[in-house]
Amino acid sequence: MSEDRLFVGPASSIAEVLLDQNLEKPLDYSIPPDFLPLIRPGFRVEVPVRGHLLQGTVFLIKNATDRAVKPLSRLLPEESSLPEPLWNLALWMARYYCCPLQRTLKCLTPPSIRKEIRPRIVQQVCLILSRPDAAALCSQLRIRQSAQAAVLEAILASPRPPTIGQLVHGLELSRSAIATLVKKKAIRLEAVSEEDLMEADFFSTQPKTLNPEQLSCLQKIDASLTSGQFAAHLIHGITGSGKTEIYLQAIQRTLDLGKSALMLVPEIALTSQTIERFRARFGLKLALLHHRRSLGQRTEAWESLRSGGVKIAIGARSAIFSPAKNVGLIIIDEEHDSSYKQSEEMPAYHARDVAVMRAKMEKAVVILGSATPALESYYNAQIGKYILSTIKVRATAASLPTVRIVDMKIAMDRTGGFTHFCQELLDGIKMRCETGEQTLLLLNRRGFHRMQLCAECRHIVKCPHCDLSLTFHREANELRCHLCNYLTSPLKECPTCRSRSSLEFRGFGTEHVERSLHAIFPEVRTLRMDRDTTRGKDSHEELFKQFRAHKADVLIGTQMIAKGFHFPSVTLVGVLNADAALQIPDYRSSESVFQLLTQVAGRSGRAELAGEVILQTFMPEHPMLKLAASQDFSAFYERELDERRLFGFPPFCRLIKIVFSGPDERQTSETAARFRQMLLEMAPQDAKFMPPLPSGHPKVKDLYRFQFLIKTNQVPLLSELIAALRLEFSRSRKISILVDVDPISTFF
Ligand code: ADP
Ligand code: ZN
Ligand code: ZN
Repeated sequence: MSEDRLFVGPASSIAEVLLDQNLEKPLDYSIPPDFLPLIRPGFRVEVPVRGHLLQGTVFLIKNATDRAVKPLSRLLPEESSLPEPLWNLALWMARYYCCPLQRTLKCLTPPSIRKEIRPRIVQQVCLILSRPDAAALCSQLRIRQSAQAAVLEAILASPRPPTIGQLVHGLELSRSAIATLVKKKAIRLEAVSEEDLMEADFFSTQPKTLNPEQLSCLQKIDASLTSGQFAAHLIHGITGSGKTEIYLQAIQRTLDLGKSALMLVPEIALTSQTIERFRARFGLKLALLHHRRSLGQRTEAWESLRSGGVKIAIGARSAIFSPAKNVGLIIIDEEHDSSYKQSEEMPAYHARDVAVMRAKMEKAVVILGSATPALESYYNAQIGKYILSTIKVRATAASLPTVRIVDMKIAMDRTGGFTHFCQELLDGIKMRCETGEQTLLLLNRRGFHRMQLCAECRHIVKCPHCDLSLTFHREANELRCHLCNYLTSPLKECPTCRSRSSLEFRGFGTEHVERSLHAIFPEVRTLRMDRDTTRGKDSHEELFKQFRAHKADVLIGTQMIAKGFHFPSVTLVGVLNADAALQIPDYRSSESVFQLLTQVAGRSGRAELAGEVILQTFMPEHPMLKLAASQDFSAFYERELDERRLFGFPPFCRLIKIVFSGPDERQTSETAARFRQMLLEMAPQDAKFMPPLPSGHPKVKDLYRFQFLIKTNQVPLLSELIAALRLEFSRSRKISILVDVDPISTFF
């Protein structure tokens, strides 16, 4: 072995490095003396591995190693590694969510940072001369140097400095003329990010005078902020009660204290309407983080936060990992929203819970806000872990809508057959069309028909790759799988009994509702919003804008329409199948139905116009629907909490769900059973192991899925046991194991 490879160093000179690719143990490397002052855990480095240079992260720095080691080759730029607070957060997440650290690190670092992609910078052309001087120069140049005159003219005519691209490509002006003018010191070029240019226009707003409830809430938050200690606040305020105004003022206080703020909203609520409200108060001093932005834009946002140049971050779930400096405040709006949970991938983290942990670690204040807080959050407030503020009145004059439950059995008896709409709803829609008000119709199922079924032999046409019936989409005339997007033409012949006349369509989706409404009211103008009509990057927002601009009388959609948008002219909300989700066998289904109904009801009557909500159901006596209709959160909460206590569900214990998926059904189910048995033998007595079962979607994309649940009060201990066992099982590559701590669905 050559000299440089054998290195057993002095104190604190060995680094354990986790390679990006490798999921096993870290490797030891010696730290060359000139790296020593810079290096710390979390630092990104390049190391030699079997003749190649690979990237990794320093996990630990220690004094000695028992083997011969090579030195680190290179420290990657400081910006590519996580700031210390985030590194500590990653360590906690990896342990708590039982996820390998490499994978957790990947989740915390945007891909753009890893790949070192630069943001897109454009050159803006600004005048150095005063406008009169420039105009004089322009007329002087017009005779001999008309190209330069044209450039000056264009700059003078533009409301704000144009970019080189706009001048050269848009107006076909000469690039060399621009260069000459720069040399003459008439103009200069300024590098700006494309982003700032696009979003430079906004109207600014002033803080509003808070009403007494808002004020008392802000004062409590203020006290926490100035104390410089960790505190968690829960704002329970109905839709339109002015929570956002409180957030805005709390952010301002945070900035005044010289700290930064993170603002999280559900993915779907991250519309320009939301962003504009923040821009209108804070101008360009905020960084936007969401997946619709280019890698370059995200890199730029990341770096501006990290350097402290920008102190406010706004984004969806992953914005909780913003590298903002000196975080003083974290806000989670609509904290009950399921999009904060990453369920399909590890780490299966919940941004709200990570937020609380991050706030604890950084001695920051966290604000959770919702009209329908998650049961766990409300419980935490009741037992004094969170500071509760309740806002009962709407901030503007708007009153709460009246809610009516309509029994669809009676409605259908009256029409003598199937109908999507009860008479009350039809009358209501008609009236809104006449008065120029608007209606929202919610149906939690997209497509035209739910499935194709053989009336002879009851065969249901299913996806060949998933255990799910295919949905008929009429506009495209195809059957589609809603799990894997498999497409096929509607069948002409039953594949089992070969009957050519017995195939029927059953069940209805949004597409069918839209057509039925047109059949009843040919004049009605509708828009439909579901995953089929919102595939494009901004189509979701585009539809919202059209509806707001009154391009339609009725917006029909899935639960997407229930969230995050203000429609001043909506005065009627119809929920076509209010009970559908109650049939999902999950301990949280009542809660989700209550939340969805309350959210969608909150869309009605937000401005000066009073609102009305109609809930259609086949279960008019269901207590959860009655509670939703009376919008009685405390009654809902008490009732639901009793059930959870009785059956032993969160918040009275924690859940861990472990999902196994593999191509072979038997092997997958056996692995699940074996894993469960081995874990059971190691686990503490109080952990309760539910039996292994096929998942709610038992087969997805040709992979069979089995799962089991554990109820426990010792998550960290179990996570550790599971991590070890998972590593052992991961040698067989065929079956993947997903660990979901605090799952939000126990069925799917
Ligand atoms: P939430 O976030 O709870 O749904 P918002 O903050 O969006 O509520 O407030 C609803 C409406 O009331 C907004 O148009 C907002 O500008 C207005 N508003 C909020 N607080 C006040 C206030 N103190 N005085 C006047 N208008 C207010
Ligand atoms: Zn058949
Ligand atoms: Zn499928």
